[in-house]
Amino acid sequence: METVVSGIRPTGNLHLGNYFGALKSFIQMQNEYNCYFFIADWHSMTTHPKPGDIQRSANTILAEYLACGIDPSKCAIYFQSDVKEVLELYLYLNMNTYLGELERVTSFKDKARKQPNNVNAGLLTYPTLMAADILIHKAAKVPVGKDQEQNMEMARKFARRFNSFYENDFFPEPASFSLSNKAIKIPGLDGSGKMGKSEGNCIYLIDDDKTIQKKVMKAVTDAGPQTPNSEKPESIQNLFTFLDIVSSKEAYNFYDEKWNDCSIRYGDLKKQLAQDIIAFTSPIRERIMEYSANTELLKKIAKEGAEKSQENAAKTLAEVRHIIGFR
Ligand code: AMP
Repeated sequence: METVVSGIRPTGNLHLGNYFGALKSFIQMQNEYNCYFFIADWHSMTTHPKPGDIQRSANTILAEYLACGIDPSKCAIYFQSDVKEVLELYLYLNMNTYLGELERVTSFKDKARKQPNNVNAGLLTYPTLMAADILIHKAAKVPVGKDQEQNMEMARKFARRFNSFYENDFFPEPASFSLSNKAIKIPGLDGSGKMGKSEGNCIYLIDDDKTIQKKVMKAVTDAGPQTPNSEKPESIQNLFTFLDIVSSKEAYNFYDEKWNDCSIRYGDLKKQLAQDIIAFTSPIRERIMEYSANTELLKKIAKEGAEKSQENAAKTLAEVRHIIGFR
């Protein structure tokens, strides 16, 4: 069975974009691959979170993963900071990584521009830490979004470089991977193209019914179609994208017909949409509450996940040490 590794940084609560863009495929993958899913708490250190925040967001995201259906009996779910082997591999990889190539990484340049007072070495070596996360499990596949493509190319380059320097084929080259052939993008309901934390337009899995209703009813619309069968502008298309994801085919077709014959009432569409989003998120929200309240269970799951991951990581690292010459 092929090995899959993927991590998500614990930065706030999960929203519908995270669910449909990432978690939904993780849940499917855990049945088909040997999966290692980690909570990237070391990666989050680049922005200097407070100790309390690290602890809180780590537990929150673990509870949310489990509530969505990530099943610890089918995969290893663990905190990156529990698997120290990753750090040793990170050090070895850094010895063969060059300043110039790290400085050319687009996400580094973007972050350096956005936070000029905090261009730390961790930010610069983010691609080597990410490569260590992946290579420590000798992953064949890594489910990532388009934005991570350059970091994935670096991980493949580091694997090839190691293999060629030590004249072996120890590390497989990890492939970027998506379950669907086109990456799904969940739009914002504010008329913008993407739902995202920095866009401030998220519907969170933890949102209560009233909050969801309010967010959906505030969705941007227009004066309505003027001619039959016209093309939908972006803000309206966004509503239909949501209907397509959470509502029934009948509901989608009903409103599509209403759009096409110019009799659509956005208020009705929004009510339907809010109701269907709530029907989807409320069982997840209940499970989030249950898991969050059970810190003993969260600890146990994190410990077991760390052990599973560590066992595999230690095997890789022992071989790496041997290859390098630490015998
Ligand atoms: P972020 O919370 O932006 O760090 O994203 C974590 C994961 O969720 C990544 O794999 C993203 O590709 C996915 N994701 C975030 N926002 C969206 C969105 N609006 N549509 C689809 N996927 C998303």
